[in-house]
Amino acid sequence: MAYDQNNIFAKILKGEIPCNKVYEDDFALAFHDINPQAPIHVLVIPKGDYVSMADFTADAPAELVTGFFRAVGTVAKQLELVEPGYRILANAGVNAHQEVPHLHIHIFGGRPLGPMLTRETL
Ligand code: 5GP
Repeated sequence: MAYDQNNIFAKILKGEIPCNKVYEDDFALAFHDINPQAPIHVLVIPKGDYVSMADFTADAPAELVTGFFRAVGTVAKQLELVEPGYRILANAGVNAHQEVPHLHIHIFGGRPLGPMLTRETL
C-alpha cells in the first residue's frame, strides 16, 4: 500500500494539525488519542512515511526502527505505566480495522485492561 502523504498523522507530524503531545524525539512523536479507549490512551508514531509494521520493519533505517521502539518504552515509563502495567497494540490492515494509514502503536493504561481479545472475536 502506497503511503498517503495527506493522512491525519502525516499532517500532525508536519504540524498542520495540532495534537496533545506527550513525547517527541528525532525518531518518534507520541500524543494522546482523540477518542481514548482507556484512562490513558497514547499513540506513538515514527517520523517516516510508513503505513504499518510490515513496511516499517522492512524498509526503515535501523536507527529509526530502534529509535521508534525505544520511544514506545520511554513513553510507557514517562506515563508511569511500567509498574501497574499497560498494553501496546498496533492495528494493520482491514482485518484489524486500521483507520489511519501511518504506523502507530497504541499504549493503553490506567486501569485493569481485561483479556487481550473478547471471545466473540475468536
Ligand atoms: P487505528 O484504528 O488506525 O489503529 O487507530 C487510529 C486511532 O487514531 C484511533 O484510536 C483514533 O481515535 C485516533 N485518531 C484519529 N484521528 C485523530 C486525530 O486527529 N488526533 C488524534 N490525537 N487521534 C486521532
